[in-house]
Amino acid sequence: METVSIVVPCYNEEENIDNFYNEIKKVVEKIKHRYLYELIFINDGSKDNTEKIIKKLRNQDGRIKLISFSRNFGKEAAIYAGLNSAIGDYVVLMDADLQHPPVTILEMLKQIEEGDFDVVATKRKNRKGEPPIRSFFSKMFYKLIKIFVPMEENVQDFRIMKREVVEAVLSLKEYNRFSKGIFTWVGFKTKYILIDNIDRTSGKTKWNFFKLFSYAIEGITSFTTAPLKASILVGFLISIIAIISTIVIILQTLIIGRDVPGYASIFTTILFIGGIQLISIGILSEYISKMYLEIKNRPKYIIKKENE
Ligand code: UDP
Ligand code: MG
Repeated sequence: METVSIVVPCYNEEENIDNFYNEIKKVVEKIKHRYLYELIFINDGSKDNTEKIIKKLRNQDGRIKLISFSRNFGKEAAIYAGLNSAIGDYVVLMDADLQHPPVTILEMLKQIEEGDFDVVATKRKNRKGEPPIRSFFSKMFYKLIKIFVPMEENVQDFRIMKREVVEAVLSLKEYNRFSKGIFTWVGFKTKYILIDNIDRTSGKTKWNFFKLFSYAIEGITSFTTAPLKASILVGFLISIIAIISTIVIILQTLIIGRDVPGYASIFTTILFIGGIQLISIGILSEYISKMYLEIKNRPKYIIKKENE
């Protein structure tokens, strides 16, 4: 029999784990005559009772695996650890907060069994129930990132992958992981299915504007060096403008004599150039800091031993 692994990163999800498990249970009941399954929870350094609750479930259900990090390493690290320990022929990746409805797994399995696809991923049908400001920023995020990285809009991490795809994802060993990009980068035939947006049943989302912004920067800088080229281009454009305006000023002085010097224009120009330079240095630093982190070659996460 083939095995399905379900990988679930968890960070402070004490209120959701039990409900999540009950829902998953209903789904695996329906597939257990055809598949073996394993349920892998990655406790990403939760500060609440998440770990305790998972351990309790594990005592009842031998198919549950728990990986506990020594601290919070972030969802990307948790995904890597989960995929790394999954043994399934098919691997499902999903959130613990029930925003990724477990019943969808049945549909995903059906699609992937038909054999034409290596990945079945989900896209959000709509953003209802989300604060408008958050929707706006999400839209901007995709607009910005799509300029640089080929990526489907509204695509979620919720997906099922064949073994081969999981191996490909794991073979990208970078420290700075941007899964949305990695999933696209590895290729393979992907089918997208649309699912409704569901509110978090409980607990809080870990996203805010600043995090979303740095996530966008993260995504762009880990997948393309285009911003570096863009800053060269901007530098060229500004130099050309400077040359033209120099010529204009010289001609003006020669033809109609010296006019009153414009402090305002000098001031704004200096500010403008200063701004551009700082942005360029910022972009450069982003790549250097990435190199720094990659070169240090630290582990992506640390698993702590269980002390029971
Ligand atoms: N998560 C995690 N580590 C983190 C943050 C989040 O493992 O540092 C998990 C979280 O428990 C959930 C999933 O990643 O299962 C998605 O997180 P969240 O619901 O906060 O994100 P959103 O659904 O709003 O994109
Ligand atoms: Mg969520």
